[in-house]
Amino acid sequence: MANYKDDNSEAPQRFLPAGNETTKEILKKHDSFAEWAARQHYDVIILPFSAFLSAGRRIKELKQSAAEYGISLEAGGHELSNLVPRNYFFFHRDFFRMVEGRRVKTCHFCPTNPGTIALLGSEAGKYFRAAEDVKVFHLWPDKDAETVWCSCPTCRAFSPLEQNRIAVNTAADILAAINPNAFITYFEKPGDGGNIPLRANLLKMETLPEPVAEPRFSSGRERDQGNG
Ligand SMILES: [Zn+2]
Repeated sequence: MANYKDDNSEAPQRFLPAGNETTKEILKKHDSFAEWAARQHYDVIILPFSAFLSAGRRIKELKQSAAEYGISLEAGGHELSNLVPRNYFFFHRDFFRMVEGRRVKTCHFCPTNPGTIALLGSEAGKYFRAAEDVKVFHLWPDKDAETVWCSCPTCRAFSPLEQNRIAVNTAADILAAINPNAFITYFEKPGDGGNIPLRANLLKMETLPEPVAEPRFSSGRERDQGNG
């Protein structure tokens, strides 16, 4: 529930969230990437959850390379919605967000449906187990749609912020059981209230890092110029 900060320093940590395509490149060239990230003064590399399921060995290599520069690996990003996979829409429309009486597949989901919660928990568990030595997971809402949540009769009693809290609390309970020393970051805009208490293994982020579109790390000799 505290803000996410480096305990040893006043300076905020510098995060590098990687998208799926960038992650493939990063994992192929873990040595030169780690060196590049160090030169750019990054403290943390955030890889998408899916990479931990499909590329375990390469992630271990990257972790080693990054550790040489004091950079840690974390998992997730704008991935809260991925815990309710969109292909469930066909058979379980009720898991998804209601807008003006209709269920829609875009943005988040219906967090008060027990079926949604069960699915979210099992998907989160799958990722938390695949990334068992990760200490910090990031579960941020959909970019530029942070307050776009469900308006079904049950969810209507909860603000978008509270719906987000219901979702991250569910994941936090699963993580506490699988990896009691790990944390989840969630996103809330500054100044928002909310009546849902948060689990102790949740850390708030009030600003989110932008992904780096094309890190120019392919050649070790290349000199990066002011790319952040
Ligand atoms: Zn709902």
